[in-house]
Amino acid sequence: MAETQRNIILTGDRPTGSLHIGHYVGSLKRRVALQDSGRFDEIYILIADAQALTDNADDPQKIRDNIIQVTLDYLSAGIDPEKTVICIQSQLPALYELTAYYMNLVTTARLERNPTVKAEIKMRGFNEGGVGLPVGFYTYPISQAADITAFKANCVPVGEDQMPMLEQCKEIVHKFNSTYGEVLVDPQILLNENSACRRLPGTDGKAKMSKSLGNCIYLNASREELHQKVMSMFTDPDHINISDPGKIEGNCVFTYLDAFATDEDFAEFCPDFRNLEEMKAQYMKGGLGDVKCKKLLERVLDKELEPIRKRRAKWEADIPAVYEILKKGTMKARETTERTLSEVKEAMKINYFADDALISEWEHR
Ligand code: ATP
Ligand code: MG
Repeated sequence: MAETQRNIILTGDRPTGSLHIGHYVGSLKRRVALQDSGRFDEIYILIADAQALTDNADDPQKIRDNIIQVTLDYLSAGIDPEKTVICIQSQLPALYELTAYYMNLVTTARLERNPTVKAEIKMRGFNEGGVGLPVGFYTYPISQAADITAFKANCVPVGEDQMPMLEQCKEIVHKFNSTYGEVLVDPQILLNENSACRRLPGTDGKAKMSKSLGNCIYLNASREELHQKVMSMFTDPDHINISDPGKIEGNCVFTYLDAFATDEDFAEFCPDFRNLEEMKAQYMKGGLGDVKCKKLLERVLDKELEPIRKRRAKWEADIPAVYEILKKGTMKARETTERTLSEVKEAMKINYFADDALISEWEHR
């Protein structure tokens, strides 16, 4: 590689709805911590509106509305626009050129094997009841590889569902570099050490909290909404009387406590137990009701969400500033992605008008 590798982060979200606490523990909270660690040279967050359109082609208004919504979520979660570049995918044309070239390096058989895409096709009802699968959706792992490589990111902090995307991206990087020369950077996925955070389940007990499933606690949830969501949360359906032994596995309240609660939270909100292990042991034995556990969870989540709500109120009062952040970030990202595209085209020898050798090769024939 010509230059020494800089430490660069790229992550992103689809602007299909407000961000929820699954995004927060799976990726966003980590991004804020990494941003504040000072260990990174450049940090980019991509609002993946073009990717969102691959399964929302008929609803561009939804995507448009959520551009500002998702940016507000970032800023309220603690993303600092002085340290992190926030940019909009559809305004970065280099990403689409890269996607087109990478498409030649991937087979349809390989795309068909992607387990996340398979699960999402099922979840969205494509290929069923006459609903076709859009080509753009089917190929989005390739465009995601373009996103990651365009920024030369070496670190991608995401949730577990993104692992197959990163594998696909790495394959493209290897194939490109071995075919055309070392231009692209091999990205590493950064997963949360806490397994509950890697794929937070929905409040309905489904495997993943997802904007598209409506089983979310949103980062902008008011106290009342939070209360209502926690109290109606899926627990152990066989745990009917307080004295009954309860199950922890598949019980959302405990998974959420795993993801969020600290020993200090127990001291502050639930001093009957020193930590989550003690609470779980009592629940499994019998004699601990769901309501007590839910009340603790509500307080823990409220403590996490309160500073986010406060920052949000501040930014909501200044939407023109939010818009400026997006514009400035996108301009900066445009420079970065165009630079990578130039290197890619040079390596592929399709930079004809910056390539004097093309003329001299012909002149000396
Ligand atoms: P959509 O349903 O539109 O795909 P989504 O809720 O899956 O939306 P994405 O925008 O696809 O959200 O994902 C953004 C980031 O958040 C990714 O890094 C993803 O891994 C992470 N993420 C999403 N849902 C969860 C979850 N339930 N738990 C942990 N991380 C998550
Ligand atoms: Mg998703």
